[in-house]
Amino acid sequence: MKLYLDFEPCKECNVMMNELSSPEMLFADAKKRADESAKFLRHLTYNHNEVVQAVMEDLPKQKRDQEFDFFK
Ligand SMILES: [Zn+2]
Repeated sequence: MKLYLDFEPCKECNVMMNELSSPEMLFADAKKRADESAKFLRHLTYNHNEVVQAVMEDLPKQKRDQEFDFFK
Protein backbone atom coordinates (compact mmCIF):
# COMPACT_ATOMS: atom_id res chain seq x y z
CA MET A 1 0.00 0.00 0.00
CA LYS A 2 1.35 3.35 -0.97
CA LEU A 3 -0.30 6.16 0.84
CA TYR A 4 1.38 9.48 1.26
CA LEU A 5 -0.40 11.77 3.60
CA ASP A 6 0.62 15.11 4.91
CA PHE A 7 -0.14 14.75 8.58
CA GLU A 8 1.41 14.02 11.93
CA PRO A 9 1.00 10.34 12.68
CA CYS A 10 0.51 9.63 16.37
CA LYS A 11 2.05 6.66 18.13
CA GLU A 12 -0.90 4.44 17.26
CA CYS A 13 -0.68 5.47 13.61
CA ASN A 14 2.96 4.53 13.48
CA VAL A 15 2.28 1.15 15.02
CA MET A 16 -0.51 0.42 12.56
CA MET A 17 1.38 1.68 9.55
CA ASN A 18 4.30 -0.52 10.52
CA GLU A 19 1.98 -3.48 10.82
CA LEU A 20 0.37 -2.74 7.47
CA SER A 21 3.70 -2.57 5.70
CA SER A 22 5.29 -5.50 7.48
CA PRO A 23 6.30 -8.55 5.42
CA GLU A 24 3.90 -10.58 7.51
CA MET A 25 1.01 -8.41 6.41
CA LEU A 26 2.07 -8.34 2.77
CA PHE A 27 1.68 -12.10 2.66
CA ALA A 28 -1.44 -12.23 4.76
CA ASP A 29 -4.73 -13.08 3.08
CA ALA A 30 -7.01 -10.40 1.69
CA LYS A 31 -9.46 -10.61 4.56
CA LYS A 32 -6.78 -9.94 7.16
CA ARG A 33 -5.34 -7.07 5.16
CA ALA A 34 -8.79 -5.57 4.74
CA ASP A 35 -9.41 -5.88 8.47
CA GLU A 36 -6.17 -4.14 9.32
CA SER A 37 -6.81 -1.40 6.77
CA ALA A 38 -10.28 -0.90 8.18
CA LYS A 39 -8.85 -0.66 11.68
CA PHE A 40 -6.43 2.01 10.58
CA LEU A 41 -9.11 3.89 8.68
CA ARG A 42 -11.33 3.81 11.73
CA HIS A 43 -8.53 5.24 13.83
CA LEU A 44 -8.02 7.99 11.27
CA THR A 45 -11.72 8.73 11.22
CA TYR A 46 -11.87 9.22 14.96
CA ASN A 47 -8.50 10.77 15.61
CA HIS A 48 -7.37 12.45 12.42
CA ASN A 49 -10.51 13.56 10.68
CA GLU A 50 -8.68 16.13 8.57
CA VAL A 51 -6.73 13.33 6.95
CA VAL A 52 -9.86 11.45 5.99
CA GLN A 53 -11.30 14.61 4.48
CA ALA A 54 -8.17 15.16 2.42
CA VAL A 55 -8.12 11.55 1.22
CA MET A 56 -11.77 11.63 0.23
CA GLU A 57 -11.28 14.78 -1.76
CA ASP A 58 -8.25 13.38 -3.48
CA LEU A 59 -9.54 9.89 -4.10
CA PRO A 60 -11.37 10.26 -7.42
CA LYS A 61 -8.17 11.51 -9.01
CA GLN A 62 -6.22 8.46 -7.99
CA LYS A 63 -6.01 4.97 -9.31
CA ARG A 64 -7.82 3.29 -6.48
CA ASP A 65 -6.68 -0.24 -7.18
CA GLN A 66 -3.01 0.48 -7.01
CA GLU A 67 -2.73 3.17 -4.45
CA PHE A 68 -5.58 2.68 -2.08
CA ASP A 69 -6.28 -0.48 -0.21
CA PHE A 70 -8.96 0.74 2.15
CA PHE A 71 -11.97 0.29 -0.07
CA LYS A 72 -11.57 -3.26 -1.18
ZN1 LIG B 1 -3.16 8.37 14.89
